[in-house]
Amino acid sequence: MIAQDTSTPRDFFQRPLRDLRISVTDNCNFRCTYCMPASEKYTFLKKDEWLNFKEIQLLASLFVKAGVKKLRITGGEPLLRPNLSDLIKDLSELAIEDLSITTNGYLLKPHLIPLFQAGLKRLTVSLDSIHGDTFSTMSGGRYEVHRVLDNLEKAREIGFESIKVNCVVQRGVNDHQIEDLLKWCCSRGLIPRFIEYMDVGNKNQWMAAEVVPSSEILSRLSQHYNVVPMEENYFGEVASRYLLDDKWEIGFISSVSQPFCGSCTRARLSTDGKIYTCLFSGQGTEVKSLLRSKASPEDIFDFLTQLWKKRNDRYSEVRSTEGVSREKVEMYQIGG
Ligand code: SAM
Ligand code: SF4
Ligand code: SF4
Repeated sequence: MIAQDTSTPRDFFQRPLRDLRISVTDNCNFRCTYCMPASEKYTFLKKDEWLNFKEIQLLASLFVKAGVKKLRITGGEPLLRPNLSDLIKDLSELAIEDLSITTNGYLLKPHLIPLFQAGLKRLTVSLDSIHGDTFSTMSGGRYEVHRVLDNLEKAREIGFESIKVNCVVQRGVNDHQIEDLLKWCCSRGLIPRFIEYMDVGNKNQWMAAEVVPSSEILSRLSQHYNVVPMEENYFGEVASRYLLDDKWEIGFISSVSQPFCGSCTRARLSTDGKIYTCLFSGQGTEVKSLLRSKASPEDIFDFLTQLWKKRNDRYSEVRSTEGVSREKVEMYQIGG
């Protein structure tokens, strides 16, 4: 195990490196309207373009040495990556505080026990509605909600802790069903998190009018519940958390109405070995060729830390002044 380096790099705005999101595939079984609209054509990476698990493990260990404490596996749909639990097992042995996965949950059932036994204890499952019609529309018209709901219940039974349920809220599409989702999740000990619809990528025809600000949801909920803000768990926590009626925790990810670039400590690694220092980057920085060269782990570590030190991203803070027209990486290529 590589020990934590005490000189954690800081970027241009003095933000430390704390989180790494690792995309293990750009492919997905869903076609969520806000991420991979079915009307578009997609070309996915070929297998030989992927980083292999050994390469991911080496990079992750170097990121941990540079200060990363939290790892999240994402995609595309990460459960489509063969033998994912082997990677989880390797990553769970690193000196980190948190290892989790974000999945649409549809294929979870046969993976739950292998992932749990490999060392995964936390899950985030994306679920935009508990109602079949809305779920089907938002996920691309092909899937049935009960499978995700059943898999969430099964995950609880197996022993996964603090399971989060990510719901992208889109005005006029699912915002009228928020309370149903909330009740379904909270009554089962799951933590729903309402995400403002973001202008990620270039394919989703994003319109500001479709964003439901978290403040609006909060004020709606306040009419039915006693809503109390909760303290931040750690610096850079993405979600603002609230307690409803002293018993139910919910979260909001308000990247559009209340940007949190100032505390953004996240780097992202794409399936084909590019590092992105912002969800809205146009280009990543290639690291695969370095991994496959004669470079030593020390050389790669220096490369990573230099890259972080140059980082000056703060897209969500400048979105309203710069506009949303720039070319951006697609969400399914780097995960959430
Ligand atoms: N396929 C997995 C899933 O859906 O959970 C992991 C990858 S997905 C890109 C990661 C997260 O990004 C999901 O929770 C999804 O809801 C969220 N997401 C995708 N497009 C989004 C958008 N336009 N605005 C806000 N969140 C989005
Ligand atoms: Fe797939 Fe996740 Fe994107 Fe939906 S949000 S299309 S499940 S990658
Ligand atoms: Fe981080 Fe970029 Fe999102 Fe700002 S816009 S919070 S820098 S990922």
